[in-house]
Amino acid sequence: MKALVWHGKQDIRCDNVPDPEIEDQKDAIIKVTSCAICGSDLHLFHNMIPAMKPGDVVGHEMMGEVVEVGSEVSKLKKGDRIVVPFTINCDECDQCRRGNYSLCERSNRNGELADKVFGHRTAGLFGYTHLTGGYQGGQAEYLRVPFADGTHIKVPDGISDEQLLFLGDIFPTGWQAAVQCDIQRTDTVAIWGAGPVGQMAIRSAIILGAKQVVAIDRLGDRLSMAAAAGAETINFEDESVIDRLNDLTGGRGPDKCIDAVGMEAHASSHMDSMMDRVKQATMMANDRAHVLREMIYVCRGGGVLSIPGVYAGLMDKVPFGMAMNKGLTFRMGQTHVRRWTDDLTRRIEEGQIDPSFVITHTATLEEGPGMYRVFEQKQDSCIKVILKP
Ligand code: NAD
Ligand code: ZN
Repeated sequence: MKALVWHGKQDIRCDNVPDPEIEDQKDAIIKVTSCAICGSDLHLFHNMIPAMKPGDVVGHEMMGEVVEVGSEVSKLKKGDRIVVPFTINCDECDQCRRGNYSLCERSNRNGELADKVFGHRTAGLFGYTHLTGGYQGGQAEYLRVPFADGTHIKVPDGISDEQLLFLGDIFPTGWQAAVQCDIQRTDTVAIWGAGPVGQMAIRSAIILGAKQVVAIDRLGDRLSMAAAAGAETINFEDESVIDRLNDLTGGRGPDKCIDAVGMEAHASSHMDSMMDRVKQATMMANDRAHVLREMIYVCRGGGVLSIPGVYAGLMDKVPFGMAMNKGLTFRMGQTHVRRWTDDLTRRIEEGQIDPSFVITHTATLEEGPGMYRVFEQKQDSCIKVILKP
């Protein structure tokens, strides 16, 4: 089959690879009908997250049709249409039973390595390094779905792939980011990053009743998309984020702050950001913390910082004393996808939201490597790419 394969930094190719097969009787195989490139894939593209190996198939946002099931799969049959969550779930361990699906205790095949690195293991993820199990990803014609009974979202017919695909990642990610803010009707929610995750967080915060939502980015098309949803916008290259957020909140600062940027924050003119870049380049720190520092500084005392943006490891110069004295609450994590997807599928069916609004580019798998560049460089007003294998 054809699949997008990681060969190294900024080197993803469309290769011919062996078709996946049932390896365990709990597996299913799907024929992928649609898949997407995620901002998290860009961290792999930039080789910012350790434990990728040349030959790994990438991709963790995908959906398709079940073509084969192992003998121990009871909840799926050939022909079923499913979205695959990016987190692999056994559905039986203590964390899965608590709804902490991104912390499944059984699905990470390299759990011992993860125990060493993180203290305790996290779930297996599709197409996302050997630290999370080294599973092949879904930017491919076919995908093996381990623990298939727990690792799927059944979706209704009569609704397009485009409307449903993002249930596997960015829609519940933006939603969880907003839910973690415990939004009150009087709240201003400020959201750094108006990429696909930020866009979903903006709409989620509005649905959950925020008084005011503010989107921060430097890319005009993304800010326009945020404004169309009803957000105030700040272009961080044109004005001071801190001053404008204080102006918009009567000097108090936002009640809730969402980091939908993560470890590769831009901020060319800030001293802290230049130091981050040097430290990242010389392996003296993993993450660029500019957005986190800005959130801690501007957030109203007693506020919440919700962090869906991905960080990899050690980070430098985080003003923890400021956070402690202001009584801030930090909430974060890889998304517990299935915790939210019954509710979000219903909201799509009811027409409360149509997540396909974010798609700007549709391409074939062969065009995938070129689309990584377009998405990375934000060329051609690119916000979200979906691929049709
Ligand atoms: P993206 O790269 O398309 O978007 C990031 C946006 O942040 C860009 O528009 C960029 O211009 C903007 N940005 C950069 N520096 C900024 C700054 N200083 N202030 C404000 N905005 C800034 O990626 P995406 O797909 O939207 O993903 C965003 C983050 O969410 C990534 O870190 C990704 O890995 C992460 N993510 C996490 C989960 C999860 O489960 N927690 C799931 C999906 C994605
Ligand atoms: Zn993702």
